[in-house]
Amino acid sequence: MPELPEVETIARRIEPDVVGRRIIAFESEACRHAVPSAAEVRAAIVGRTVRALFRRGKLLVFELSEAGRPLWQTVHLRMSGRIEWEVDGRPRHGYTMWRFDQGPALWFCDSRKFGRVTVTTDLEKTMARLGPEPLAPDFTAARLRAMLSGRKRVLKPLLLDQSFLVGLGNIYVDEALFRAGLDPRMNTAALTDQDIGRLHRAIRAVLREGIRYNGTTFDWIYPEGNMQAYLRVYGRKGRPCPRCRAPIARIVVGQRGTHLCLRCQDTDADSVPRRSSPSPDRQSRDQQ
Ligand SMILES: [Zn+2]
Repeated sequence: MPELPEVETIARRIEPDVVGRRIIAFESEACRHAVPSAAEVRAAIVGRTVRALFRRGKLLVFELSEAGRPLWQTVHLRMSGRIEWEVDGRPRHGYTMWRFDQGPALWFCDSRKFGRVTVTTDLEKTMARLGPEPLAPDFTAARLRAMLSGRKRVLKPLLLDQSFLVGLGNIYVDEALFRAGLDPRMNTAALTDQDIGRLHRAIRAVLREGIRYNGTTFDWIYPEGNMQAYLRVYGRKGRPCPRCRAPIARIVVGQRGTHLCLRCQDTDADSVPRRSSPSPDRQSRDQQ
């Protein structure tokens, strides 16, 4: 599933060729793609010019506001969504399409059809239930500490919860927790201020690195990234931990497959391997 770095990469790739173009057609064959319906989305957006395109959480947001008439279209790629320009006819699994006053059509390809396209006249309200952006300047360690204050949740599921913090999915949560040296199964009530500081740095570092490498290619659904070469635990079951060489384990946490080093991420109170090094990230990178 595309996470923050993948959606950011897609937004940056298509933005130059979408902004400034007027939408002249919208078609959707996937019965659930367009919400509430293809006809209603079409009626709202056709004739509008794309003023801006950006990412919020895992959503692509097209700003279509016109003098006094605010409008945004949001696209959620969900499990298997891809965004492709039409090159040679309709692409594989292309179910939803935008045509512009110039240039090729844009396709939302989605083999599992879990994606969603919707429109809103109140973006703030639509986004109200989303947590903060982890790469925003105001997402500080102090803010994360305040967000965690009083919570008693299992760490990994909380980080996957988009109402707590946006953008993280299974890959980047596992990577961030490894880099922070935290057990995904631990209760957030047991996090020390030091843990939170490391977690904050790790989340931002892993997302920035993901963006730098255009996201993670996991299969044909998302073929454009190189971050998979830099993952330290995700998808590496049985291979040596880049820090301690113990084999990476795969367990299930909150019904999600979870990759971790049971030695480096052991947060059992009696055997906490709190690293004293201020930059474990750099250290493990050097070892790779
Ligand atoms: Zn290890």
